This record gives sequence, C-alpha cells and structure tokens, in this order.
Amino acid sequence: MNGPTLRTLTGAVAANVAGIRTRTRSMIMAVVKADGYGHGAVTVAEAAVAAGAGWLGTTSVGEACALRAAGLAVPILAWLHASGVDAEAAAAAGVDVAVGSVDELGALVAQAASTVRVHLHVDTGMSRGGCPRRQWDELIGVAQRGHRARRVRVVGVMGHLPLADRAEPAANAAAVAGMREALKAVRAAGLGSPLAHLAATSGALTDPATHFGMVRIGAGLVGIDPSGTVEMHGASRLTAPIVHTSAVPAGTPVGYGGAYVTYRAAHLSVLPVGYADGIPRELSPRAGVEVRGRRFPVAGRVSMDQIVIDTGDRYFPTGTSATVFGPDGGATPSVHDWAHWAGTIPHTIVTGIGPRVRRSIA
Ligand SMILES: *Cc1c(COP(=O)(O)O)cnc(C)c1O
Repeated sequence: MNGPTLRTLTGAVAANVAGIRTRTRSMIMAVVKADGYGHGAVTVAEAAVAAGAGWLGTTSVGEACALRAAGLAVPILAWLHASGVDAEAAAAAGVDVAVGSVDELGALVAQAASTVRVHLHVDTGMSRGGCPRRQWDELIGVAQRGHRARRVRVVGVMGHLPLADRAEPAANAAAVAGMREALKAVRAAGLGSPLAHLAATSGALTDPATHFGMVRIGAGLVGIDPSGTVEMHGASRLTAPIVHTSAVPAGTPVGYGGAYVTYRAAHLSVLPVGYADGIPRELSPRAGVEVRGRRFPVAGRVSMDQIVIDTGDRYFPTGTSATVFGPDGGATPSVHDWAHWAGTIPHTIVTGIGPRVRRSIA
C-alpha cells in the first residue's frame, strides 16, 4: 500500500501554459518559487519550458541554481536576496538578478567579479521589493556606473501589480504608467531597451496592457487563477490510503474535543494525513474527501498526522485510496474547495503540503 502521495500532473502544466499563450504574445516566464508552488520546481519548470515558457523565475539565487543543476538552460531570474545579492553564484550559474534598492545595487557594483545580468526592480504600487519612485534616478545612476565598469548589464526592468486580481484593467493603469516611465528613464540613461515585465497570472489573463515583453506566471502554471475569471487545469492530486477503520454507533464523538458526533451508526476511516502534512486545521464542516466516487465528510478535528472520515453505511477495507484533492471534478474536491473550507487562498493549500507526503509525477 502506498502512503500519502502528491502527483504532479505535467500535462495540466502544459495545458495551462498553452492557455496563457492564447492570451498573450509576450514571452512567458514560468515562476517556480516555493518548489514550484509545492508541485516540484524542476518538474514544473521542465513541463513549462517544454510547453513554450522561455524563461524561469525564482525567489532566490539558490532556487535558480538548483534549476541550472537540473539542466534547465533557459534564462532564469531571481528577485529576493536575503543576504544581499550573491553575485558570484548568480554569475557562475548564469542567473539574472532583480535588484530594487540603491544600496543593494551599489554593493553589487562594488563586489561583482564578472558582469552580472540585472533587472531593475521598480516599485509600481506594491511597496514591497521594488525601488520607490523617488529613488529611480539614483538607482539608474548606480546602474550606469556599474554598466561603465562592466560590473552589471541591465537586461530587464521589472514591476509588480498589486491589484490585478480585481480583473479590472483600470486598477492596473497607474502601475502600467509607472512601468512606461521607468523604461523611458532607463533608455534615456543609455542603458538600452531592456526586457520589461510587470504582470503575473492575473494580469496575463485579464489585462493585455500589462503584458509588456514578458508575463511571469506562477499560480497559473498549477491551475490557480487569482482573478477567478478563467478555469485552468489543477496540476496535482493528493491521495491517501485508508489505514484503519471502525464501526461505531450513533452518538459517538470523534477526535479531540469530540467536535463531531455521529448522528447514526457509521463506519469511520482514518487517513494518514494531518496538519503536519498541510491539511488545514481550521476547516468548515463541509470539508470532505472522495472515496470510490463519493464525497465523505472529515469527521472532527484534524490531528497532526491523521484525519477521520465518516463513510456512513459504506465500509471500505484498509488500503482503499481516498482522494483529498484533485482536478477530477464530481465527488473529488479541488484545491479551491479546500481553500474555501479553510478560509484561505489555493496557493496556501498547494504550498503547504509537507515533506512526508511522497511526490510522484504523472
Ligand atoms: C510569485 C510571483 C509571481 C507569480 O505570481 P502568480 O500570481 O503566482 O502568477 C510573479 N512575480 C513575482 C515578483 C512574484 O513574486
């Protein structure tokens, strides 16, 4: 009997890239941070590149180097540098870095032993990683200095959209104008015409004005549209075997605190996945899983390593597989269903699946 297994569905990743392709002529960067949103960074990256993504994106240079080590040869950008830009690692692996602060770019220019490919990260309304607008001139000045010294080459200008999930192009207008302004300043400074990129999945799906030269797609690769406007293909299936069963009378409290009480005689089945494996502990009573084509409720509190399901008058032998989530529809819950039951977003469900769950590729 296989234990809990998370299968990454590479065909779904490919279909999602194809879906994005129908909506933009810009290049597609496949963002595979956080282990490819929990689906396996290399697995998702390979599937996305095979389907036409021309770039890869990660949070850290370390994540980017792991993709290079796996043989991925397309350009890769990393945009958050916890202890300053690791210029040597980036240059050695041929990884581009986004830099959104004057100090960080200054340090890079001071230290880089060989030319580092840089994307200037400008704040377009997030007030997060980008350089605030009042410092753009200074940032560009440092870039010019670094360019002359051959320490950096500005190959990109990057922004990020704070409001694209509203699916209202008007909400993105200020960021689009900011990007244009930044590009103009970069060109005027003699830094050429770098690749401009602003949109993530929501912008790519809902607002062509945000596409510029490239769109950065993360959630969309694994079937999540943060704007909630486009049906995409869920790219994983989490299954777990029933490992224990019992038959109990009506009125039996189940689990810690007896939060669930059987209202009739019932078969209870235990699945070996709990909150340590990423099953949210705070759940609506509507939460359930699929077994043999029917949905059965999660009974009582989620434990660290297990959940109990109430299968009513149906008895299933141990070893029977339950589907916790998957893209199958019908009785099978989706990642979106779990997010809804837990009062969160689908991203936290897929990135939360723990290391004890076996990974496989389908
Ligand atoms: C995560 C991330 C993305 C991808 O966003 P999705 O909405 O998941 O497509 C793009 N750009 C940056 C800077 C990110 O951090």
